[in-house]
Amino acid sequence: MNFEFNDEQKALQQLARRVAKEKVAPRAAEMDETGEYPEDLFQVFRETGLVGVGFPEEYGGSGLGITGLAIAVEEMAKYCNSSALILLLTRLGTSAIFFGGTEEQKQKYLPKVAAGEMRSAFALTEPGAGSDSANIRTTARRDGDHYVLDGSKHWISGATVADFFIVAAKTKPDVGNRGMSAFIVDKDTPGFRVGKANKKMGVKGVPTAELVFEGARVPAANLLGKENEGFKLIMKNLNSLRPVVAARGLGTAEGCVAYAMQYARERETFGKNLLGHQAIQFMLAELAMSIEAARLLTYKAAQLVDDGQYGKQAAPYFSMAKAFATELANKAAYDCLQIMGSYGYSSEYPMERYYRDARQLTIVEGTSQIQRIIMAKALIDGDINYG
Ligand SMILES: Cc1cc2nc3c(=O)[nH]c(=O)nc-3n(C[C@H](O)[C@H](O)[C@H](O)COP(=O)(O)OP(=O)(O)OC[C@H]3O[C@@H](n4cnc5c(N)ncnc54)[C@H](O)[C@@H]3O)c2cc1C
Repeated sequence: MNFEFNDEQKALQQLARRVAKEKVAPRAAEMDETGEYPEDLFQVFRETGLVGVGFPEEYGGSGLGITGLAIAVEEMAKYCNSSALILLLTRLGTSAIFFGGTEEQKQKYLPKVAAGEMRSAFALTEPGAGSDSANIRTTARRDGDHYVLDGSKHWISGATVADFFIVAAKTKPDVGNRGMSAFIVDKDTPGFRVGKANKKMGVKGVPTAELVFEGARVPAANLLGKENEGFKLIMKNLNSLRPVVAARGLGTAEGCVAYAMQYARERETFGKNLLGHQAIQFMLAELAMSIEAARLLTYKAAQLVDDGQYGKQAAPYFSMAKAFATELANKAAYDCLQIMGSYGYSSEYPMERYYRDARQLTIVEGTSQIQRIIMAKALIDGDINYG
């Protein structure tokens, strides 16, 4: 067992850390205020190769896998959750192509995303179906060499800048998840449009928006995998990215503690700085302990994906990492805001933004409750057995 990153991973961590400190950190507050997607930072991610971190070399990436992507995302999330999400989306919007795409589909889309020439998004959630994703209502009907899609999606991250979307739709509407198919939908598809953006609490640098399908004509060649077998593909896409969402949580928690430490060193109350009070020390010690546990869960989960294990046995470990690290991000933001008192509550300081940004992490890509359902099922089925 080895708990150390290898040399390549360490070099990536150094690069991501430098980019996060020098380029991302100075832009984070402004992005939050304007709600504008940071094209300039995307160019930085492109030039430094960070957009291609999660892609194999054969598709133009650096071959550092989901573990590499998690490393880069963790560093960004220390300062800016929107930037972390921009990197995460490189794989959230393409993994179904890795898992179920033809070589032609892979060659058409993956190298362009790895090079930062195209952006993608993942579209499952609908106004009537979030956690209960088998219940989506968007339909896809075969018509000659096209499928005709009707319906809508909402809360799709990165929708306003995406060139294509992985879209889940029902090809057999009445049979639950056995009637779902997955498609690649290009942004200029006739009958398709990106609708209105959601007004939201945090992670404002990456707009989320609705998608509208009104008789959208998608070439049959854009079906991913087999008709009616899309649910597994969509779940594999989600599952395999959970370690990277965990890395967003881990980085957020670390960013909160680093900032609160710096603040607490300088702020004096009752004749000593805040770090001199044991109540404050214990809050920080508690967070440090959980950060180390979250790191182990996160990178164990990422390694499982890179080892090609994303089936039923591995799923509960992705869920543990995701739930633990994202709940920790919320606890860290809450406690560190408390440590800063009124300055924590002020939007002149970053902690208030960390607090708002952290909140979405226990909702996206499977809520904390859904992760616990997956863990409990693994215990009940004996996939996890402590006996
Ligand atoms: C900022 C943001 C970005 C997003 N980006 C994307 C994206 O890019 N692509 C995409 O497809 N979706 C995206 N989503 C949607 C997200 O995946 C859903 O919000 C999430 O799956 C939860 O669905 P819901 O909001 O409909 O809540 P619901 O499913 O209605 O759940 C409501 C509450 O009930 C709980 N609950 C539901 N069922 C159960 C149960 N069986 N047992 C116990 N508790 C239960 C949930 O945990 C939750 O607390 C995004 C959401 C947000 C907020």
